[in-house]
Amino acid sequence: MLGTGTPRPDPDRSGPATAIVVNGTPYLIDFGPGVIRRAAAAYDNGVTAFGAGVANLKTAFLTHLHSDHTMGYPDLIFTPWLMGRREPLAVYGPKGLKAMTANVLKAWEIDLVVRTIGGHARPPCEVDAHEISSGVIYEDHNITVTAFPVHHGDDLEAYGFRIETPDRTIVLSGDTSPTQSLLDHCGGCDVLIHEVYPLSTFRTASPAWQEFRRSHHTSSKELADIANAVNPGLLVIYHHSNAGGGGPLSGDTEGVLLAEIREDYKGRVVGGHDLDIF
Ligand SMILES: [Zn+2]
Ligand SMILES: [Zn+2]
Repeated sequence: MLGTGTPRPDPDRSGPATAIVVNGTPYLIDFGPGVIRRAAAAYDNGVTAFGAGVANLKTAFLTHLHSDHTMGYPDLIFTPWLMGRREPLAVYGPKGLKAMTANVLKAWEIDLVVRTIGGHARPPCEVDAHEISSGVIYEDHNITVTAFPVHHGDDLEAYGFRIETPDRTIVLSGDTSPTQSLLDHCGGCDVLIHEVYPLSTFRTASPAWQEFRRSHHTSSKELADIANAVNPGLLVIYHHSNAGGGGPLSGDTEGVLLAEIREDYKGRVVGGHDLDIF
């Protein structure tokens, strides 16, 4: 877990980012703010797959284009390249990813020019952005990634991912309210990494915020129902939205969330923290 937070700038929880490491190769899902620093910390903790300077991170998948999931994009593009990544970065995500990529490269145009000329010139910084639809979006000798549509409000294309590796199947919810497609793609999954908000704070929110939560995210009770239906080997919760948006001083609700989920779900469930490994 490289980032388990939300838009709130919690110093202990970077923006959403998860890495799947298979046979020494890292794959990234989402790139919220702080992603490369957290990957460097994971490297220091012994996750050598990232490479020194996170230069081995070459493949990434994006659930949706919300800023909390994408503000690490320039960091993902430029920092590993500066530190020695020489292959293009391959990124797979919803419609709009190509424009975002082009605009990020354009925004840092001056830097890219000065770093690719003169005595310490680097080869060009290349990004291959692929816009996806539902189905298998990526396959290599380590992993198969299947994208499935989720419901994150009515105005935004959003996906969850099922990731099959030689020894485990992992499903990431992305940001979503409960959807049948997630249930359909969780069959036999070893690890389900799912977003969630607590009902206790939801009940104190305004009707407008309650409606927003209901249409964009998944409550603890709803997640317990999902877990009972799909029976994952391990449920990991992250991205703990606060009903009502949460003030800047809102505390972490992980303990409340786990207690609410365990009222209805008796399987293994844990809170994911930045730099946890499952
Ligand atoms: Zn989010
Ligand atoms: Zn979102």
